[in-house]
Amino acid sequence: MTITRDLTHIRHNTKIVATLGPGSNNVDLLREMILIGGLHVVRFNFSHGTPEFHKGNADIVREAARQAGREVAIMADLQGPKIRVSKLENGGVQIEQGEKVLFDAALQGEGNRERIGLDYRELPQDVKAGDVLLLDDGLLTVTVESVSGSEILTVANNSHFLKSNKGINKQGGGLSAGAFTEKDFRDLKTAVEIGCDYLAVSFVKTGAEMEQAREMVAKECAALGVSVHPGLVAKIERVEAIENLDEIILASDGIMVARGDLAVEVGNAAVPALQKRMIKRARELRRFSITATQMMESMITNPVPTRAEVSDVANAVLDGTDAVMCSAETAVGAYPFETVRQMAIICAQAEKAQDTLVGVVDDDDVDNKGETSSVIASGAVHIARQVKAKAIVALTESGSSAFQVSRYGILIPIYAITPSEKAQRRMAMYRGVRPLQIATSNDHDKAIEEVEALLKERGVFESGDMYIITSGSRMRESGATNTVQIMSVK
Ligand code: PEP
Repeated sequence: MTITRDLTHIRHNTKIVATLGPGSNNVDLLREMILIGGLHVVRFNFSHGTPEFHKGNADIVREAARQAGREVAIMADLQGPKIRVSKLENGGVQIEQGEKVLFDAALQGEGNRERIGLDYRELPQDVKAGDVLLLDDGLLTVTVESVSGSEILTVANNSHFLKSNKGINKQGGGLSAGAFTEKDFRDLKTAVEIGCDYLAVSFVKTGAEMEQAREMVAKECAALGVSVHPGLVAKIERVEAIENLDEIILASDGIMVARGDLAVEVGNAAVPALQKRMIKRARELRRFSITATQMMESMITNPVPTRAEVSDVANAVLDGTDAVMCSAETAVGAYPFETVRQMAIICAQAEKAQDTLVGVVDDDDVDNKGETSSVIASGAVHIARQVKAKAIVALTESGSSAFQVSRYGILIPIYAITPSEKAQRRMAMYRGVRPLQIATSNDHDKAIEEVEALLKERGVFESGDMYIITSGSRMRESGATNTVQIMSVK
């Protein structure tokens, strides 16, 4: 279908993450998605593709961003211990309701209707009679009847054609697999090599696993001479992760509400309330959140979203998410440009319904632990409200002070001025933050004059506008933000 593109500029503060795949990995399309669509972060899904595929895609993203004149972040998403059935003869088997289905963790080679192999040898130890297993995102459920050695005998609760390599989850959680596989260790190396800005860790259960991920990243970065480490995103998709939510959030830079696997473990109906809780808690603990999975699912094949999808994206924005994510819609869908564009339109509209000076969380709930940068951010936000400031400007080396400001409720734009390209990319994820890479003067007052003149030139400020600026009295020092000033544009 040919559709006419609406190319008017849309201003939206909620960031958009798009998964890259065969449907979107070309420079021209990506440039348009960045420049006009409103795309900020590109996700590489390491569940698919070789290292060479991802390295080639990184070149495509960087070239598209260069042509668009914008920085975008790359988020590498590790597969983690996704448990799958083996390859099956003829690509799959028809399972009928009431039929006995035997899984065998010791099976070598292709499975069939009599015996289906598993890529996770420990599964028989993790299940008992009465447990329910969900296959293929819950399209087939089986109840365990008995376990013997490597074999799990089950009965099918419904009929389904089960294809090779489909995933298995256990209802209610309780799988003992750790967060990292051998493949993840290899993929982590590739992710660091391509200079990813974020690394997403799948099936996390504890804060300790995120700390382990941070150590692994530090080791890999040291080996490759990379000084700025990628930020860590914990994917919340296990029952245990909900139980350990605070410690996981605190051990991460951000979280992903990974609604696909989460819904399979906790049941679909539990997910919306959990989404709200996770987004709120991430802000309170000063971390970011991404809301993911099936947000615009019908746009894999249709050029417009359903009403329910529009509501879903808008509700995530109203919940206060930093970013909304596309998976198959942009990786393999027929309308990747239209999908991000529609998301941008929905985000902008939903944001209009929010009071920019009140915002999405109660400032008093943000746990600033008395840390200078967060206390300064809180002060900046309170002052901005009282003087009805048009924007907050943060002079920032690492992007951290702009991030701290963005954790408080206020929804006026935050212009983050940094000399660092890496920091600029990192900030692509933060809601409301508009990063600008500018090498300002080392003289504090002169730098402020330069930034004000630039924002005036760009039409952001007019004479007489009030704005708030946060900065360090010593310039060019990371973590040195200690000053808030009220400014009136000359
Ligand atoms: C999810 O399960 O919702 C998710 C985002 O993870 P993946 O796409 O890696 O399965």
